Order: sequence, then C-alpha cells, then structure tokens
Amino acid sequence: MERGIDVVESDLGERILQLMHEAPSHIVMPAIHIKREQVGELFEKEMGTEKGNFDPAYLTHAARKNLRHLFLNAEAAMTGANFAVASTGDIVVCTNEGNADMGTSYPKLNIAAFGIEKIVPDLESLGVFTRLLARSATGQPVTTYTSQYRRPREGGEYHIIIVDNGRSEILSKTDHIKTLNCIRCGACMNTCPVYRRSGGYSYTYFIPGPIGINLGMAHDPEKYYDNLSACSLCISCSDVCPVKVDLAEQIYKWRQDLDGLGKASAGKKIMSGGMKFLMDRPALFNAALWVAPVVNGLPRFMKYNDFDAWGKGRELPTFAKESFNEMWKKNEVQGKEDSNE
Ligand code: SF4
Repeated sequence: MERGIDVVESDLGERILQLMHEAPSHIVMPAIHIKREQVGELFEKEMGTEKGNFDPAYLTHAARKNLRHLFLNAEAAMTGANFAVASTGDIVVCTNEGNADMGTSYPKLNIAAFGIEKIVPDLESLGVFTRLLARSATGQPVTTYTSQYRRPREGGEYHIIIVDNGRSEILSKTDHIKTLNCIRCGACMNTCPVYRRSGGYSYTYFIPGPIGINLGMAHDPEKYYDNLSACSLCISCSDVCPVKVDLAEQIYKWRQDLDGLGKASAGKKIMSGGMKFLMDRPALFNAALWVAPVVNGLPRFMKYNDFDAWGKGRELPTFAKESFNEMWKKNEVQGKEDSNE
C-alpha cells in the first residue's frame, strides 16, 4: 500500500494471515496454527460475517465472496511457480482452491516469479514432480488445480521473472547442493519432532522446519545459525523427503562449521572440551562415575538454579550407585537370555 499498490493474498490461509498481519507457520498450510474461532472473529471484523458463527463452510463461503470481488477488479495478478518446463515454457501452478486460476484469468497483466531451481526439463519430468508434490504435501494423487500457463491472454501481458538470489552460490557448495532439490512439500516439517512440538514461529528464518534451517544457513549463516539447535538429528526428515534432500546430514555439517563462523556457544565448547578430556582418560572417567552419586544427595538449590536451563521443568535422573562398567567387571550384568532363565 506504501507505493499505492494494494496487494491481496488469494490463498485462503495466506489471506487470513494477511488480515491478521501474521506470518505463515507452515509452507503448505500457512494458517494451520489458527483456530476457526479466531478466523470467525477476524471475518466478522473484516467482512461483516455473523457474530459467533465459526462454521468452516460458512467462513469459507464468506471469504470466497469477498475475494471474488477483488479478483474481478484486480489490475494485475502475480503467481509463483511450482514448476517451470524448459522444453515448452510452461509455468505450472498447483493450488487446491483455484485461486491462481481466478487471479490469472481476469487481469490483463500477469507476472510469474520463481527460483531457478523450479525448472524441470520436460513434460515427462513434470508428471513425476506433480505426483510427488501432491502425495508428499497433502496425500492427494494430484493437486486439485494443476494449471499450466504458456502465453498471455489476448491483448494481455505475461512477464516471467526467474530469481537467482543466492541459488547459484548454493550450487557451488557440494555439501549443501541438494537443498535446491526441494519441491516445498512440507513433509520434512510434518515429521520433525521439534517442529511438531514448537510450531513454525519458533524458527527465525521465514521458512520453518528442517528445510528452513538449511535454507536459512545457505542464505545467511551468520543471521540464521541459531536454528541449527532446533534439531535432534533423528533423521526422520531425510527419510521422508521425496526428492532425497539430505536435510539432517546437512544440519550436522552446518553444526561443524559453527566454530569457523565464530558462532559456537562458549558454554557448549567448554562442556565438550571437558567431556573430551574426561573420556580420553578412562581412570579419571571411572573416578568421576564413582563420585557422581554424591549429586543425588545435594540440596535442590544447588542442582536447579539459573545455571541449569535444562533443569527448568525437568528432574535429573538419579545416578546409580554402581556404574555399568563396575557391574560388568563383577559379572553382575545379565544378558536377555540370562534374565529369562
Ligand atoms: S526438503 Fe524435501 S520434505 Fe522438506 S519440503 Fe523440501 S521436498 Fe519436502
């Protein structure tokens, strides 16, 4: 609006967030974190819907009616592209609401902007990718509206903007090149235990989850390095990714670069140095295990205080009186077969 252009999001989830002045929390379901009651209250204020009516079908109809008027009067439409076909020049946009088609059908000016990595060689490859995307994003065999645009409407203009914005730079990083395979299906965030507990707003890069951690690091490591700790390295993301982006492996590599970037946590460095020192010296390690049960008897204020962020909301496990090592030496450790006897 600052430059006299009123930009309207036409995807329902994005539209809700635009009216709320909030950012998306998921790349496929941007408003997944918003309750229908919140949407009802928002539409009541913005579109004059019935007070207290939170019925999803009613609210969707209200949004449809409201957007229809905006579609009919828009002077320009802008889309991204899920894919672009090199051999034919097709721009392919997948939506479940038909909003891209409504947007591109009315105005005479159409603009498509997308990253270089969206380009696939031919229509045969497109068939593979559209199936992969729908299945991995929402479990559909194909996205409801999978539209291909090739030329401007009669008397209109169609502008195509192919964006690099650092992608060529990623091509030169062999450890991180697979980030560019991403088709933005969101499967890695759906499976990620950290994303599922903490939600999209806990990440500082605008794309959350495992792919967001990697894209943020590829884009500006000094700014987005803090997201690297939002990973338990369970590797579930790498397992589910339909295009084999090695997400967890890349996060692990980025963590190894942290010291070189001057962003490694001083506390963690001291702790790791201490553990290395201890583990390199078995006698000292065993002696430390021998005295560890003393911690069990310490008063709470010594164990749970401002120096122990981990202990806020968690209890320390009780140290065993005897270490596994000692039990093993005394032949006190029973195997599964032994214990079944
Ligand atoms: S990295 Fe893989 S799983 Fe994650 S959004 Fe991209 S394609 Fe989907």
